[in-house]
Amino acid sequence: ERAAAVAAPVTPGALADGTEVPLLANLGSPDGAAEAVELGAEGVGLFRTEFLFLSADAAPDVATQREAYRRMLEAFPGKKVVVRALDAGADKPLPFLTEEEENPALGRRGLRALLAHEQILRDQLTALAEAEAETEADVWVMAPMVSTVAETEQFVALAREHGLRTAGVMVEVPSSALVAEPILRHADFASIGTNDLTQYTMAADRLLGSVADLQDPWHPAVLRLVGEVGSAGAATDSPVGVCGEAAADPLLALVLVGLGATSLSMAPAALADVRLELGRHTAETARAAAQAARAAGDAAGARGAAQQVVREAA
Ligand code: PEP
Ligand code: MG
Repeated sequence: ERAAAVAAPVTPGALADGTEVPLLANLGSPDGAAEAVELGAEGVGLFRTEFLFLSADAAPDVATQREAYRRMLEAFPGKKVVVRALDAGADKPLPFLTEEEENPALGRRGLRALLAHEQILRDQLTALAEAEAETEADVWVMAPMVSTVAETEQFVALAREHGLRTAGVMVEVPSSALVAEPILRHADFASIGTNDLTQYTMAADRLLGSVADLQDPWHPAVLRLVGEVGSAGAATDSPVGVCGEAAADPLLALVLVGLGATSLSMAPAALADVRLELGRHTAETARAAAQAARAAGDAAGARGAAQQVVREAA
């Protein structure tokens, strides 16, 4: 089975009318890189770097990080690889970075923690720039949990100072979705993290089972925010990816494209189904499905409305 998958040429992600939608992989360590390539990943849309830091007493040094980044980048010559700076907070405590907080989801996490411990961010950017220089990959770097334009400016300036050419932000907080256009005048790209964006939009802890029914990226409130970012991307001519779990749901993937996402990143196992579904529909259908879903009153209504548009278009 594995051998057949390797031999079969995988066509790039595209809609039925030829609109390209690169389909990328979410990776949590370099170990999954080869399998992602086998499963047709056209690059990496989210490389989570937490694996290097978790369970460490001190931040890993530049050489250790460079080696790990190089190992992953080598699997993607000539391909785009989006690396996310360390995303830690009081929910994933690191002795050298975090402090105890009563409400970790709303605390000093993601980029906020990195800007408070700038040397950790500087070391990570140094390691990444050095690893990029040793490989053929096209490295994009992005910051997690950005909520303001000022944070965006600080991060992008630091990335450029370290020689990284393409610097962007994750949109996972409603505030950054709502000011996506000013943000994209400073950042080269945005990547929407629908897991956290849903958590913060719905005010529902993504890890709490008792509110799991609210943690649904189909909710029109979430879709409207995604649409804001999509429009800002179009207005500023900037790429807008989605790298949250929502991108792995084939019908929702189509809706996200209709809302303006220009690439989708997901667990590699989901790539084939999403590729198949996108290939069945035109950009016009994607936009109509997105419009219908956006106008619904709840998540179930949004899904039903998108299903109906797709069914009628077939
Ligand atoms: C997200 O929040 O959607 C995301 C991709 O980041 P993580 O799941 O690592 O928080
Ligand atoms: Mg997140």
